[in-house]
Amino acid sequence: MTYTSKSTQCVHSGTVDDTINQGINTPIFTSTAYAYLDKSQHLYPRYFNTPNQKAVIDKVCALEHAEAGLLFSSGMAANTTALLSLLQKGDHIVFPREIYGGTQYLAMHELGKFGIEFSFTKGNAVEDFAQQIRSNTRIIYLETPSNPLLTITDLAAVADLAKSKGILTAIDNTFASPINQNPIDFGIDVVMHSGTKYLGGHSDISCGVIVSSQRLISVIYQSALCFGGVLSSETCYLLERSLKTLHIRVMRQNENALFLAQSLQTHRGIAQVFYPGLESHPGHSIAQKQMKNFGGMLSFDLKGNNPEAFLHSLQLIQPVMSLGGIESTIMQPSATSHAMLSEEERLALGITDRIMRLSVGIEEATDLLTDIEQALEKG
Ligand code: PLP
Repeated sequence: MTYTSKSTQCVHSGTVDDTINQGINTPIFTSTAYAYLDKSQHLYPRYFNTPNQKAVIDKVCALEHAEAGLLFSSGMAANTTALLSLLQKGDHIVFPREIYGGTQYLAMHELGKFGIEFSFTKGNAVEDFAQQIRSNTRIIYLETPSNPLLTITDLAAVADLAKSKGILTAIDNTFASPINQNPIDFGIDVVMHSGTKYLGGHSDISCGVIVSSQRLISVIYQSALCFGGVLSSETCYLLERSLKTLHIRVMRQNENALFLAQSLQTHRGIAQVFYPGLESHPGHSIAQKQMKNFGGMLSFDLKGNNPEAFLHSLQLIQPVMSLGGIESTIMQPSATSHAMLSEEERLALGITDRIMRLSVGIEEATDLLTDIEQALEKG
């Protein structure tokens, strides 16, 4: 049976039948060696086709409206495999000006080794992407909402632009999660996730995902086989278990984030809140068009508080270097995700030391607000 609602897909899509005991969960298949005589398909972990890998990828494909996909041992393994499999020497890729630091590092320090050219846009409008297109551009890469200022790019407009020039589009959809945004519906070709974030959701597994059309996955697969960044059956099982609650977790995170964004935007200790769900956000109307909800990530600009003192004063929200877990966490991008940029580069992006990036969890929203308010009072 094919399920169309996110909540049912989360719970049921992809589950492998336990034909021995009729248990309701996918069993963990630990074998790395499978019989091959008289078989149409040869099973092997690095071939991305063991039963636990298949169960998870089928669920993610259902959630992302994708034909096919591959599971990796980290988000960066997914990003790197997608780009290096679809690009070759002499090709050019366009990146938005704000992207995850690891992807930026990949662009600036690794792609050149393979003879791949790249450029960054000056803004997030479709015209900014159009300006960077060259005769050898093969991919336009997107991240919306972006990290850390939650800027929004119009998916359909960029997909149309790219298609008109025979260019592929790829997106890191980590911040939105498949619950809030399905880029394939807007014409985007390749969707990637750091599953370490919302898909895993409990800050205890590292994984990554690529989903796309069957045709493009077949191309990516040939390189992925060689690069070898696969996920073990045990971790697949944990991920499948986590995905069963993805919808309910993310819906609660959406609600909590909207509440906090609305409450903090009028707080005297906060200069600005960056959240696409606020009407004051410049990308709000595009976000309304392409996102089902506005997500669990928000950033804010401290007015008078010392940033380090503010972080030390929090009692419930933990300053850590990741996002997307059920617990609320916070970080200062200038000291963490964007520390590799020079101060001048950071300021050009609007990332001052006073910007705080909050990953909103599933706790009681008023407890989170109380924690932020008391930390603002102390600092
Ligand atoms: N994409 C985004 C938006 C991220 O925030 C991260 C990690 O923080 C990654 C990709 C990389 O994921 P991983 O750490 O699982 O390799």
